[in-house]
Amino acid sequence: MKPVRVRRYVPKNIRKRRWRGHNVDINLKLDWLERLNDLKAFDLRSICEGHPNSADLDKNGPHIIISLNSDLEVLFADKWPACQKMIKEGIDNVVFHPLTYVYFDFCNHYSRSNNRSYLRREIYLMLHLNLKKCRRITESSRDDWFTANVKAIEEYNQFLCDLLGTR
Ligand SMILES: [Zn+2]
Repeated sequence: MKPVRVRRYVPKNIRKRRWRGHNVDINLKLDWLERLNDLKAFDLRSICEGHPNSADLDKNGPHIIISLNSDLEVLFADKWPACQKMIKEGIDNVVFHPLTYVYFDFCNHYSRSNNRSYLRREIYLMLHLNLKKCRRITESSRDDWFTANVKAIEEYNQFLCDLLGTR
């Protein structure tokens, strides 16, 4: 099973349910969660139905964050110099929900603590509902956003699998 990272701070008034050993927002449909969990190239890292009207600290919009499967990181890093443009065009060609802020990040980290140092590579695709354009989220607008973007992510997953030569 692929890991899912959920927010550590969970206000009591936000309703959750259990899914594969994790607490997930109650309005996230099983179909979306399973499909995002089944991606070949990506792992689901964080997903939230959005709580923009919440009175507490968890005021945020719907989002989906996935990261490239660690088995593919080296392959991706090798392709990056020659394929950046193609990777961008791959995203441009996917039809995300129109109210989506799409962010793709490829970065290398160095960190050191307690005399141990680490080099890490992270490749993320993050989708956030653009809250500047959509201040009021209804049940149906939220469902539309997730339905369109789960499909879009599947398309981008397939594009990247083809690019990296994974089946
Ligand atoms: Zn949430």
